[in-house]
Amino acid sequence: MLQWTVLKLPEAEQRIRDSQQATMTDLVNPYNEDDRSSQSSGSSSSTSQTLSKETKEISRKSHPPRSKCPTISPRNMLLRLEKQDKNAQTKSSDEPIDKDIKKPDEEDKNKNVYVVSREFVDILADATADTEDSDSLGSDLQEIIDSPPAEKSKKLKNKLKELENVTLNIAITGMTGAGKSSFVNAIRGLPNDDKNAAPTGTTETTMTPNMYQHPFMPNVKIWDLPGIGSPKFRAKKYLKDVNFHTYDFFLIVTSERFRENDIELARAIKKSKKLFYFIRTKIDNDIRAESNKRNFDERMLLETIREDCKANLLKVGVPKIFLVSSFQLEKYDFQKLVNTLEDELPENKKFALIQSLPVYSLEALTKKKTYFKKLIWLNAFGAGVGAIAPLPGVSLACDYLIIKKFFQQVFMGFGLSNQALEVLSERVNKPMEQLQAAKKSRFKDGATEDIVVDMLSKPVIAIAKTLSTVMALLPGGALPAGGATVATVHYLLNIGLNEMAEDTKCVLSVSQLA
Ligand code: GDP
Repeated sequence: MLQWTVLKLPEAEQRIRDSQQATMTDLVNPYNEDDRSSQSSGSSSSTSQTLSKETKEISRKSHPPRSKCPTISPRNMLLRLEKQDKNAQTKSSDEPIDKDIKKPDEEDKNKNVYVVSREFVDILADATADTEDSDSLGSDLQEIIDSPPAEKSKKLKNKLKELENVTLNIAITGMTGAGKSSFVNAIRGLPNDDKNAAPTGTTETTMTPNMYQHPFMPNVKIWDLPGIGSPKFRAKKYLKDVNFHTYDFFLIVTSERFRENDIELARAIKKSKKLFYFIRTKIDNDIRAESNKRNFDERMLLETIREDCKANLLKVGVPKIFLVSSFQLEKYDFQKLVNTLEDELPENKKFALIQSLPVYSLEALTKKKTYFKKLIWLNAFGAGVGAIAPLPGVSLACDYLIIKKFFQQVFMGFGLSNQALEVLSERVNKPMEQLQAAKKSRFKDGATEDIVVDMLSKPVIAIAKTLSTVMALLPGGALPAGGATVATVHYLLNIGLNEMAEDTKCVLSVSQLA
């Protein structure tokens, strides 16, 4: 087992350099999926890479001298740190746990905590720098880190709450029969015949919008608006009747050419300074109808439809048109629509959108995973910073709930539940058992309590590297209360996310969607 000591800076640097040369097969880096395969073959390249970043990190910054501590094993250290975390609930958060650790004077206390938090963020950020989430800290978290210690926990709690409670209201409008309800169901990940699906193929009589909640994100609401086919249609009145202020953006749907009513509506939405996009649905029908013709070229056909729509919509300026099939989101322009929304929606809204969309392709999975990674940072720091300025109830027991909740969110979000697989099974015409068998990780039957408890009993060796680096950076060798929690939560959440992403990839592959 890796032994380590809290060292003065030059000694710490030397130790890290030495460590780089050693073969450290017992270290696990959860931050990069690719590393897992190299670990199993005994390679240490990824570990070395991360350590080299740590070395850089240490050299780049100046720190006060550190006192020497007795050599202890990572396990003992973790136990000590856990004790420190618990103490933080009842004592002053900065109170040292060992009498041999110099107590910083009152004035230095907060400064130390502040410096450490920054360093810690940098180290962990570097650990993920080569993965697709390199910018995952985001300006929000940076702002929290830069804020005075007394405000950190409040700001962090608020940010987590804000993300959890963010509402997204999507309005789907267009002529009756255009495919509005089917599109509502598609983005909720439901087939048209699901008992909770919006009814399709019906002749509308109601003039009120129908609201459909997302199956597991109740704050995301998709509104099936009344049809706009009537010859007496007046866009301004329609928008007033459907309470247009409610919606974050409008999707104007048609399955043929866009008509005068669509254009009038778009102009009125534009005037009200809301976002809107044109959706040309049932593209699969167009393809099918043309595919038997000689010289059929799918790309050419899509281009012709797109140009035709554009010509219709010239009066709206430069319209954004997306060709989709509600039955095959993985094809045509649906991903482009998502990317455009991602560019144009406010930060929190796009967060809710990406999390709520079904996983229909590898690209969609990657995007979703990146957003979940942002949540990992917030959750981990929520626990760690909370301990610096104690939040009521923050302890390892609380982390367990954070971890469980996050895993369940990922499990549902990646579409790994039986319910989601049943829908997929029907759609891709593969037996349910085959899709279920594609899941190989410990999460294959869900994010259960047992899994989390089991994981919590084994993080010690894996986080030793992070902890030793943090310790090396600290004045007096003291880890701030909660530092162990941050590292533990961050590590475990990454492991779970990677494993479930791997399962999802396998499911997509069996479904021939990847
Ligand atoms: P709404 O009246 O605008 O809500 O339209 P619906 O969603 O009820 O759809 C009308 C009909 O078009 C239904 O029979 C749907 O199954 C069918 N439909 C809707 N979207 C698509 C699509 O993308 N592809 C195909 N092939 N049919 C669709």
